[in-house]
Amino acid sequence: MQWMTSTDGDTALCPSCANSLVGYTPSADHHGAKCGHCGAALIVVSTSSRSTLVAIDRCPEELRLFLAWCQSTLDELEFVSLVVSLEEVLFGGVISTTRDEKTDQVS
Ligand SMILES: [Zn+2]
Repeated sequence: MQWMTSTDGDTALCPSCANSLVGYTPSADHHGAKCGHCGAALIVVSTSSRSTLVAIDRCPEELRLFLAWCQSTLDELEFVSLVVSLEEVLFGGVISTTRDEKTDQVS
């Protein structure tokens, strides 16, 4: 069984049961979600080009702890900023997200 799925479209597949999530809209919501088919606890992380779903109960312990810290410490905008920064560090800034210096918000 997988602990994550990653797609490049408007669909998202549950890593636990491989069914498409009903009513899915791409977002960088770091709050928990549940698969409507199997009930797996999930976190959705989307960038401008990909949507990744992580099954919390099956992912590596270090990632589970990191995601729990994000949920308890960061709001949505801070989480998006973290994801953008990590993507830039890991992949050389391949996404087209910008930060407004006046408002300090990612768009
Ligand atoms: Zn499922």
